[in-house]
Amino acid sequence: MELGALVCTARAPRCGACPVRDRCAWRAAGRPADEHADRRRTQAWAGTDRQVRGRVMAALREAEGPVPRDLVGAVWHDAVQLDRCVAGLVEDGLVEQDGEALRLPA
Ligand code: SF4
Repeated sequence: MELGALVCTARAPRCGACPVRDRCAWRAAGRPADEHADRRRTQAWAGTDRQVRGRVMAALREAEGPVPRDLVGAVWHDAVQLDRCVAGLVEDGLVEQDGEALRLPA
């Protein structure tokens, strides 16, 4: 299932139909308002996987070495979307996973 495309959309997530709702960090946090909602109207990429991937890459670029996976979680509120984006970056060869840490390729 394409969770991000069919269920967890940025504009109207269908949490009632979500298979991972029990593990959703956003729901656990009380469904906080998106602080970037105003920008979403003018920036079509806000809330997309591209934005999340960019944030992960920026965090890894700013680090002096491998970044523990838990710390990478601070860059995005939706753990499911973040996991998907990190997996995509690893699959694309843009990020390397070393145990529980992530880093840019040497
Ligand atoms: S991941 Fe969370 S926000 Fe997204 S649909 Fe599932 S429960 Fe809702």
